[in-house]
Amino acid sequence: MTTDAARGFASLAVHAGQDFDPTTGAVIPPVHFSTTYAQDGIGGLRNGYEYGRSGNPTRTALQTQLAAIEGGAHALSFASGLAAEDALLRALLKPGDEVLLGNDVYGGTYRLLARVLAPWGVGLRVVDMSDLDEVRAAVAERAPRIVWVETPSNPLLRITDIAGLAAIGHEVGALVVVDNTFATPALQRPLALGADVVVHSTTKYLGGHSDVVGGALVLGDDALAEQIGFLQFAVGAVSGPLDAWLTTRGIKTLAVRMQRHSENALAVASLLEGSSRVARVYYPGLESHPGHALAARQMSGFGGIVSVALESGEAARRFAESTQLFQLAESLGGVESLVNYPDAMTHASVRGTDAAVPVEVVRLSVGIESVDDLLADVEQALTR
Ligand SMILES: *Cc1c(COP(=O)(O)O)cnc(C)c1O
Repeated sequence: MTTDAARGFASLAVHAGQDFDPTTGAVIPPVHFSTTYAQDGIGGLRNGYEYGRSGNPTRTALQTQLAAIEGGAHALSFASGLAAEDALLRALLKPGDEVLLGNDVYGGTYRLLARVLAPWGVGLRVVDMSDLDEVRAAVAERAPRIVWVETPSNPLLRITDIAGLAAIGHEVGALVVVDNTFATPALQRPLALGADVVVHSTTKYLGGHSDVVGGALVLGDDALAEQIGFLQFAVGAVSGPLDAWLTTRGIKTLAVRMQRHSENALAVASLLEGSSRVARVYYPGLESHPGHALAARQMSGFGGIVSVALESGEAARRFAESTQLFQLAESLGGVESLVNYPDAMTHASVRGTDAAVPVEVVRLSVGIESVDDLLADVEQALTR
């Protein structure tokens, strides 16, 4: 029953790729640490397994699960989100090609393109992807090889119309890539909306417990999957077996976690919106959010990230240092609530650029703790 596409999302998340062990009946498939596989005569491989970089059954189980939950024919897992991005970009780009990038993508994505790939001759243009007229104008000027978007974006939670963007990109022959780290497939399925490739930092919600770094690509195209698979093998940034297993375990509870993250985040966003000390709340679940109607159409929940602008940079710093249950740390998507001051933490590398985050903004990754405790913590931090 591993990949029965007729099953619901939560069933796929629990079962896809997770067949019990045929030799013992163990309900949880074992973690395979072996780096090499005995051959039945030279070249006589069992199920294609030969060496740990080229293939590992625990990684295969994760990839099967990832493909099922995103609704793609193929998934490939990597040692980090950026390793996944690197494999995808190198499979697609050659010198002279250009990437059209959203203006508030993950800072590391911008850095990979601007500082690693640009010196090899890859072009980069940055636009506000949530403004489809701007995107239309940009692709008409020059056709990019890739259109790359994050929606909701980080940390300002802008919402881009994926189906609309895919249509614009495909008209000029571009490949449309959606980083689905924030929404996760529990809330948004970009491939079904017309995107070509989904990117994940599984470090965040998919792993879900802030205890494993990883990344993944999910896609439908057989030839591109083969090219990326070749790079996964030839370059070697694969997920280790324990990393793959932890990620698989995290994904099994993704549906319930995202539901609770979304409920708690809406409660926190609503509290913030009602405070006189708050200048602006960024959360697509609020009716005041400019992308609310689009998010309601394109997503089945609004996710766990809330950003808030306080009255000043100083007030924002004070707030970020005053929460107690929300721990001050980088990253997001774990069961525990975190607070981040983007200008000096996650987005310090884009300070002073087009992608800079306003100094008044604080980002909250709302966890799955008791909502009353989260609200009390935010309230006390606001009064500091
Ligand atoms: C964290 C993150 C990445 C990078 O992933 P790593 O696992 O840290 O390499 C990419 N995109 C988004 C949206 C992220 O949040």
